[in-house]
Amino acid sequence: MSATHQSQAGNPADEYYDVVIVGAGISGIGSATMLRQQHPHLRFLILEALESYGGTWLIHKYPGTRSDSDLFTFGYHFKPWTGKPIASRDQILQYLGEAIEDADLAPHICYRQKVQAANWSSDQQCWTLQVQDGDSQRVQSVQAGFLWMCQGYYQHAKGYTPDWPGLEHFKGTVIHPQQWPEDADLADQQVVVIGSGATAATLIPALADDCRHVTMLQRTPTYFAAGRNADALAEELRKLEVDPDWIHQIMRKKAVHDRAVLLKHASKAPDKLKQTLIDGVRACLPEGFDAERHFTPPYKPLQQRVAFVPEGDLFKAISDGKASVVTDQIETFDEQGIVLRSGERLDCDVVVTATGFDMAVMGEIPFSVDGEPVDFANTVGYRGILFTGVPNMAWVYGYGFYSWTLRVELIGNFVCRLLAHLQATRASSVAPALRPEDADMTLLPWVDTQTLNPGYLLRSLHRLPKRGDKPEWQHSQDYEYEKQVLPRVDFSDSIFSYHYIDSARKASKTMRSTTA
Ligand SMILES: Cc1cc2nc3c(=O)[nH]c(=O)nc-3n(C[C@H](O)[C@H](O)[C@H](O)COP(=O)(O)OP(=O)(O)OC[C@H]3O[C@@H](n4cnc5c(N)ncnc54)[C@H](O)[C@@H]3O)c2cc1C
Repeated sequence: MSATHQSQAGNPADEYYDVVIVGAGISGIGSATMLRQQHPHLRFLILEALESYGGTWLIHKYPGTRSDSDLFTFGYHFKPWTGKPIASRDQILQYLGEAIEDADLAPHICYRQKVQAANWSSDQQCWTLQVQDGDSQRVQSVQAGFLWMCQGYYQHAKGYTPDWPGLEHFKGTVIHPQQWPEDADLADQQVVVIGSGATAATLIPALADDCRHVTMLQRTPTYFAAGRNADALAEELRKLEVDPDWIHQIMRKKAVHDRAVLLKHASKAPDKLKQTLIDGVRACLPEGFDAERHFTPPYKPLQQRVAFVPEGDLFKAISDGKASVVTDQIETFDEQGIVLRSGERLDCDVVVTATGFDMAVMGEIPFSVDGEPVDFANTVGYRGILFTGVPNMAWVYGYGFYSWTLRVELIGNFVCRLLAHLQATRASSVAPALRPEDADMTLLPWVDTQTLNPGYLLRSLHRLPKRGDKPEWQHSQDYEYEKQVLPRVDFSDSIFSYHYIDSARKASKTMRSTTA
């Protein structure tokens, strides 16, 4: 599944492309497919730093790696999902491989090509990317009329590990799930998984059968929802041999509807939802288990993702005595294990740090405009897609509470419509700009941390673009709203600032393929 892929795209050095997509994860593959469908004449390239496609799904190799949302909405609208709602890493990689094949994207993907810098030239009206070849380490330049950033949201090279005292003294093995060693053998080992999120909940049942015992050590509990990894409606429709395309569309609508209902409950009656979730978890645990302490988060439901536990496998491992939960804080590590604030200790052979990510703001690529460095914290995001002062660039940043891919597709249509507008009006570039009526607008952090506050976002909020207090200057996190609004955006609105160059230069540089 994680085979190396030879780039078929040839050497992109010194070439000009109408569109360059950075990243061949679920966002890049989806965006490229929509670009092909809607602008078959545009010349485009996907630059991917890794040796193959998949991004998150290539990188994460820990036992049991799986999606936490359903593949009807985490998959694409244009490619039916025919498996169980929650999918394994291998299944997702296979699906993405097929999507590449279906849209014949392989000739457009350059693997092991890392974008190291991006400079916009107002004079030339294009981006020049510095791209490092993973084999030769040579840095070459590639030019792009439009830059479509699908590079994800976290640092891929290394996960986040807090600075725990004494960790250097620990004699056992420390593994971060983002860098799971191929040869890791945890058989008969005493394992502590630090963390309480979806990764910990996935790993623990996957390890429980093999290792001596696995302990989930958490500072704060997470909300979980246990259920079958199946959907009765999908099963019924499949039994009736309904066309898989139809089933996919129906199940997407159902998944979105169910999620919207859940979000409504979360905002209207958070205490009731909290009780329902905790009761659901309690029902999966042995009598007398302290669910109050270990599975009752101090925050409201859906301030962070509710982690779905397919078939209740985490709770089964706990019930079988193969896994246990400790809610406490780390005082220090020592040679044998972890000393807790309570004075208790956890001796172990292996510590797995399921402690999340470090955010990568725009892939940590140094951006500049006419040689002036861009500090994204000083930009304001137009609907979280385009940024003031940064021409011809779109960033794909998905949803916190809905499947990421739903936003990939809304942005895909948005960018394709924007590209069509540029061509129709013979404009060479566009960037959003604050209008006179926005002059006194209050600028806020990228997300409202009252509603969405995972650690990686909180740690990097100061580096992310700003949000305004008007809907057009916000990534709303609301799929139902954006589904209505994004397709209706009027690109002649004064919020968009266009640049036109004379037609002779335009023919030689900008959106070349369309003027041919
Ligand atoms: C284990 C796990 C499970 C998850 N499950 C879900 C889920 O069920 N539902 C959901 O909505 N979300 C889920 N997420 C979040 C998930 O990361 C996103 O939804 C989605 O996979 C992101 O896709 P992406 O293509 O935007 O980014 P990524 O998957 O991060 O891919 C980005 C790609 O860009 C490449 N890249 C980055 N920088 C550069 C550069 N400078 N030059 C060239 N290439 C570059 C990277 O190598 C990478 O291949 C999960 C995350 C994890 C870790």
